[in-house]
Amino acid sequence: MPNDIPQNLSGLINIAELCPSSEALGPGKRFVIWVQGCPFECKGCIAPDWIPFRKAHTMSIEELAERIVAEPEICGLTISGGEPFMQASRLATLLRKVKAQRPSLNVITFSGFRINQLNWQDALALLAETDVLIAGLFVEKLNNGRGLKGSSNQTVHFLTPSLLPFKEELENGQRGLEFHLRVEGGHLMVGIP
Ligand code: SF4
Repeated sequence: MPNDIPQNLSGLINIAELCPSSEALGPGKRFVIWVQGCPFECKGCIAPDWIPFRKAHTMSIEELAERIVAEPEICGLTISGGEPFMQASRLATLLRKVKAQRPSLNVITFSGFRINQLNWQDALALLAETDVLIAGLFVEKLNNGRGLKGSSNQTVHFLTPSLLPFKEELENGQRGLEFHLRVEGGHLMVGIP
């Protein structure tokens, strides 16, 4: 049963990157959170810098919730990484706080775990706040360039009906990439290559 790690970040979310508005990772404009740290080491991972379990950008659950609800145009959130379920309890709390103020927001969560592996208490709490789970390890040779699955072995699970109208788009739609300028310099690529 994985626990949230690193353990010394109680109440803080360990963030690799944030994008306050993207249209490349799900329907509509979405607030995207990439968390730091992943227990998997998929060959060809597009975010190898986000695999190590090290302290990256930390933010309190309350502060991040405020930043999300302050984005008036978003219709949802996408949580990726890194491995979101290694911070499952904190992310579940975040989502409950956000939805208390913006109940219409939908949530897409990526994970390297298969859905039947997400059976510990904190993982179930995050699943309870997730509308669509895209689950499974990334297999480079199975990247068919379609939909939000990084590779065709991954599974799109509709945990609630809210994003069912976008089933074809999520599973087989044309991908788009965005490039956002970072305040600290350089650019952030958003989307599935
Ligand atoms: S699960 Fe995702 S973030 Fe983790 S190594 Fe695999 S592709 Fe990278």
